[in-house]
Amino acid sequence: MTDITNPPAPMSPAADGQTDGSGDYRAIAMVIDTRFPAGEQLRTTQSVLDPLTPVGLAELRAEVHTAKAAGTPLFLCAACQRPVHLAQRPAGPGVTRNGLAAFFRHVAAADAPPCPCRTVPGVHNVGAVQFAGLQEGLDHHTLKLALADCLVHDPRFSDVQVEKRITSAEGSWRVPDVSAMFEGKRIAYDLQLATLPIATIRERDTFYPSNDAHHVWLTDAADLSRLSHQAFCDLHLNMAGRIFAIDDTSIGRSLRDGQFQLQELSILPRLVEDRPIHNIWETSLVGTDVIMMAPNLRTAEGERRYRRELAAQVSASLSVERQAICRAATMNQGLAPVGLQWTRLARFICGPRVDAAIASDVGKVLAFLAQVEVFVTHQSGSRPSIERELQRRLGTLLASRHALHWAPLVLMVFSTLPSIKAAVDPATMTRLNTLLTSTETVRPLLRLHAGMIAALYPWLGRRLLMKAPKFGPKMRLPASRA
Ligand SMILES: [Zn+2]
Repeated sequence: MTDITNPPAPMSPAADGQTDGSGDYRAIAMVIDTRFPAGEQLRTTQSVLDPLTPVGLAELRAEVHTAKAAGTPLFLCAACQRPVHLAQRPAGPGVTRNGLAAFFRHVAAADAPPCPCRTVPGVHNVGAVQFAGLQEGLDHHTLKLALADCLVHDPRFSDVQVEKRITSAEGSWRVPDVSAMFEGKRIAYDLQLATLPIATIRERDTFYPSNDAHHVWLTDAADLSRLSHQAFCDLHLNMAGRIFAIDDTSIGRSLRDGQFQLQELSILPRLVEDRPIHNIWETSLVGTDVIMMAPNLRTAEGERRYRRELAAQVSASLSVERQAICRAATMNQGLAPVGLQWTRLARFICGPRVDAAIASDVGKVLAFLAQVEVFVTHQSGSRPSIERELQRRLGTLLASRHALHWAPLVLMVFSTLPSIKAAVDPATMTRLNTLLTSTETVRPLLRLHAGMIAALYPWLGRRLLMKAPKFGPKMRLPASRA
């Protein structure tokens, strides 16, 4: 297992917090969010997209496409009520990889009525751009053959095929780059070297399992900086930061051992004094136990690893501080009694100062999160009183001065722990909905305090902090391509 440290990406709270999200690439300023109760669905694009972290964005993109495929679009243009999908500005200097660079655009349709919000000249959805020359060049072909060769050398695989059509019972078909049989099951491999639209990604993720085939996305070692492109983030951020890659080492080992292996790249958090918490790629050679793992199990395992790694690193350097702040939060004492501990933690990870945190109602946020922990760990006994206290603390947070800016964090808690959403009473849900449909500008308090909140409550760490590291892992190019 190699562990490659990258310099942290520049994500100082100040730089990350600036709102460049009101740019004119957002022709659609208001949307109808069909997830909300009827009559309360009108939301500003700013409030839906700007607070999204990279993981939140990848999850919402997946949801939007799943809903569209099911014929029940998640978002409609407020002007013409036609479905819209979620696009991302092409990567470039100053373009963030979170919701600030996302925008809504109409789904292309020949019979669509005219809409004043319809076109945004000069802006293209990066997800739909195929990088010319990379899609099916010599490199791609060489890698396919190398991959097939690795499978042929492993006696557990049979019927190894390059570009063999797989047909469903209804007659639709796909052509994976390489396929093979393993323990009676077909495995389809797709080598992603260029950006693919998320529609294609989701559609293959659906097609293969529904036709009794296991599907594996993999990339190669050339230009891994593109792992920060949205199309790759759609793959790895929705798999808890995990993606397979083929390189010289994995090819060499597969041939030598007669056992198929791939590199697995995983995003893990890294705590270094005087730096914001950042992410690194960890590279490790994996065999069929990981390659054949069901996607939901692989995701769950990745989430656990990220959470444990973050908790372990915080405990190693800041255990006393974390415990003190969390204890005060459990007792709903606010930040004032633990100002000293907060300052030490904030200095270590470049978090906001305690006065700024107090002014932003972070104490109320932590009181709520602490009670969430109490709620999920007590499955019996004094449950009704624990639930009442949870309601009370969430109510206090949603009535606070900065409630508007913390509402996205409450949604994040609901996505992470659905049992919390189920425990919230209708009046509180109505209050939350009012905040989420407000037309006031949502400030990025969530991102500003993300590092501190994640350090204190690592179960939110992945959604708050995970993103593609700025630099790719160092891997060896297949010799034929060097
Ligand atoms: Zn429209």
